[in-house]
Formats: sequence, C-alpha cells, structure tokens
Amino acid sequence: MSVIPLQVKSVDPILSVRDLKMHFPVKEGIFMRTGRFNKAVDGVNFDIMPGETLGLVGESGCGKSTLGRCISRLYQPTAGEIRFEGRDIATLKRKELMPFRRDIQMIFQDPMESLNARHTVGQILEEPFQIHRIGDRAYRQQRVKELLDVVGLPARSVTRYPFEFSGGQRQRIGIARAIALNPKLIICDEPVSALDVSIQSQILNLLIDLQTEYKLSYLFIAHDLAVVKHISDRIAIMYLGRIVETGAGESIYRTARHPYTQSLISAIPVPDPHHHSHRQILVGDVPSPINPPSGCSFHTRCPKVMEVCRQTSPVLSQDQQPVACHLYE
Ligand code: SF4
Repeated sequence: MSVIPLQVKSVDPILSVRDLKMHFPVKEGIFMRTGRFNKAVDGVNFDIMPGETLGLVGESGCGKSTLGRCISRLYQPTAGEIRFEGRDIATLKRKELMPFRRDIQMIFQDPMESLNARHTVGQILEEPFQIHRIGDRAYRQQRVKELLDVVGLPARSVTRYPFEFSGGQRQRIGIARAIALNPKLIICDEPVSALDVSIQSQILNLLIDLQTEYKLSYLFIAHDLAVVKHISDRIAIMYLGRIVETGAGESIYRTARHPYTQSLISAIPVPDPHHHSHRQILVGDVPSPINPPSGCSFHTRCPKVMEVCRQTSPVLSQDQQPVACHLYE
C-alpha cells in the first residue's frame, strides 16, 4: 500500500485515509443477483493536515464524489480506514457517528439537493443546532443572524425560501449551514461547478476567508483543475477509483508527470491571444469501473502507452510528487 508522503510538519493529520474502497454491488439478470461490483473507489490513500486544502480532481465517473461521501460517512465504505483526528470512523455505527457529524460537514454542488425547499432559510440554518440539541431558541436565532452575516446574506433572508435566491446565494446558504456547528473539516463537492464564472470566484474567495477565520481544512472536489488551483495547497488527481498523481499545487501545474494530469492541464484555457495551445485531447470516455481495463487503468486512453501498461498496474511512487505510471519506474 503506497501512501502519499506528507510535507514534514510537526502536527498530525486531521484526516488520514488508508486503502479506502467503495465497491457497489451490481444487481444483474432476472434474479437480480450480484456477480460484479462497481469499484467506484478502489484503494485510496491520502492525508489532510489541519488548515490545509487538498484539491481532488478528475473527470466525472472517476469516483471523487463517492470518495467525499465515504469520508463524510454518507456511505459505509467497503474496506479501509478513515482516521479523523486519529480515530477510525469508517466502521462506526449511526449513533457513534453523531459527534463526528459536527466536525465533518459537506457542501454540495447543487445546494437545492441539500436544502429543504419547504423550509425558510431561518429554519434550514436552525436545524443543525436542533439536531445536536445546542442552545435555546434565542441562541439559535442569534447564531442564524451571525451566519447570514458571515456568508454575506442580508438578515431578512431568514423568512425567505431557497427558490427565492440565485444559485450563488443558495450556495452561500449551503456554506452557512456547513459552518454552523464550527466544523474542522469540510468536504466541498464541486461547490462552484454549477455557477457562472464571476460568481465562482466570489464563492471561492468566501471559502478561503472562512478557512482563515475558522481554521478549516478542506477536501475540495472538482473536475476543473483551473478552479482547484485557486484554492488548494496540494492536489490529488483521481482516475477510475485511484489517485494517480499528487503534489503541491504549483508543482502539479508546472511539472505534471502523469499523462492524464498533463492532458487535464493542457485543457485549461490560457487568456493570452499569442499563446499557442498544445492541447492533448483525450480520446474516449472514462472506462466503466465495473469492468476496468487490465494493467494501468488509463492505458486505453494514454498517448504514451507501452506494452507493460496493458499487463501491470503501476503503483504510486514514494517521492516528492508521487505518480502511478510505468514511465517513472
Ligand atoms: Fe500511460 Fe502506461 Fe503511464 Fe499508464 S502506466 S499512464 S498507460 S504510460
């Protein structure tokens, strides 16, 4: 099992994920029997330090959102460890998870998914305090006002419903809800993907400000490397259920090693009319995680594929910028 090396720091990681797997049974045939598994997450390892942002990038279908949902324990992983502040929460039961639910929160791509459309914003933001039995009515209402102020929404929002807000404002409500209980780690699952570019940067700046103010750690999931660059200390690239490269944000952009990372970077538009694009267009789609290719799972699309790639799966190297590719062995 290869583990992504950490920069040398004296503190312990807030989150350590070890050999995490999420295999969904696939029911097939007239008897709906399980013969095969969708290996959405297939042996993932990484750490997140306190106050750090790890950007997790990959195309849709690579397993990144499933990974986020495992860590926040919306899913029960098939195998592996999720150590939060040293305690493995991967196998905890519903009741045992309650204290961790305060500390680990999630922000979703579409806040309408997570916000109850029949509740006012005031009710939505009060709910976490009610669930965890925190404070009386007056305290909760005061906290709701403070939360709205922190995320830049007017106090009069309390009596309005989610559908009355724009996409960016709804995401601010989702963020207010996520920070209500002073969490330590937030899983941001494509929080700006559905927003206009101008609104994206406002939400990213809000997340950065909140991180500084509340000393938050983020796992920031996105399909767009350009978005992740703005916010991440380190970046991990995911392909078909596994991490294939990771490193400090800047070094991933300057010296990407894995052919998949290189193609993702080449797809980032450069706002310079004199820049000559050397875009590496990937052929085909991400293969099915139900029937992944043999050897390196990227070999069906890799422009640098070699014979060994079709037979043997590369392991993540143990250097400054770990990469899983036979080119670097
Ligand atoms: Fe390409 Fe082979 Fe490297 Fe996989 S191992 S990324 S197929 S060169």
